[in-house]
Amino acid sequence: MPKATIERATKQKRAIRSAFESEGRPLSTTEAFEAAQALIEGLGIATVYRSIKSLLDDGWLTPIDVPGKGILYEVAGKEHHHHFSCTTCHRVFELDGCADDVLVPLPRGFKATGHDLTIFGRCATCAAQQRSPAAKKPVAGSKSIRVSEAAKRR
Ligand SMILES: [Zn+2]
Ligand SMILES: [Zn+2]
Repeated sequence: MPKATIERATKQKRAIRSAFESEGRPLSTTEAFEAAQALIEGLGIATVYRSIKSLLDDGWLTPIDVPGKGILYEVAGKEHHHHFSCTTCHRVFELDGCADDVLVPLPRGFKATGHDLTIFGRCATCAAQQRSPAAKKPVAGSKSIRVSEAAKRR
């Protein structure tokens, strides 16, 4: 491979890494593409796929499966944690730690070896927009428990 090509690939991969670091949350390939576009000129989606694959091979990224989102990618090597999925802006965030009391009691004789938890709701930005007077009124029939509210597209 010509030196210039290798250098370009390295630069693109670095831009993808920076995109994940600056966003600080799990990203889809499209989101990584959008975030990295601002960092490097002439970036193509195929390159983003290649860079993500390479970062997965390096063990720098890890795939996560968020309900209703398909596969997203996040920086690998983090402690056990969970995710928050905003039903308004469709961004997924990482939550620190784990609340043991959310776990349901298991039937007699069952033994848990792990769990997966995604909390749905509105992120701070979307919740603030909802409260401001300029925002649209809440959708009729929405539940009062914000966290369990189903996605309502505007
Ligand atoms: Zn949001
Ligand atoms: Zn947990």
